[in-house]
Amino acid sequence: METKTVLINLRKKHGLTQEEMAEKFFVTRQAVSEWETGKATPNNEILKSISKEFNISINTLLGSPQQLICQCCGMPLEDEFISREIDSSFNEDYCKWCYNDGEMVYKSLDKLMEFLVPHMAGMFQKNETDMKIILESQLPNLKYWREKAV
Ligand SMILES: [Zn+2]
Repeated sequence: METKTVLINLRKKHGLTQEEMAEKFFVTRQAVSEWETGKATPNNEILKSISKEFNISINTLLGSPQQLICQCCGMPLEDEFISREIDSSFNEDYCKWCYNDGEMVYKSLDKLMEFLVPHMAGMFQKNETDMKIILESQLPNLKYWREKAV
């Protein structure tokens, strides 16, 4: 879905007119109209406010240009799984199980593996040894572990 369509749907879903939408985000009605015709896209600050106000990730607002995955455990991120900052805005890098209360839950790859290996092995009906090999080949490529390894 394109950003303009996402924005129109959101506004209608919340029963707002273009004027009301404009007031909410401190822009002119014309700006809202331009977003909705695709002439313009809200700037980053406004995207953040819309994200927070309507509880929708910026990735989804932008028409889901990328499949987000948690940069700690590798889980695909739907909006409902994305972690939050303490002010409740989205942190689109991590799932809500890996990032909680403004902090990373897993401080070491070993700790994450301890949890993830049995969990994933059960979910995909694989034995834990195979699962461990798969995860050990994938997880270190994720941003969180790459940065930790430096
Ligand atoms: Zn995660």
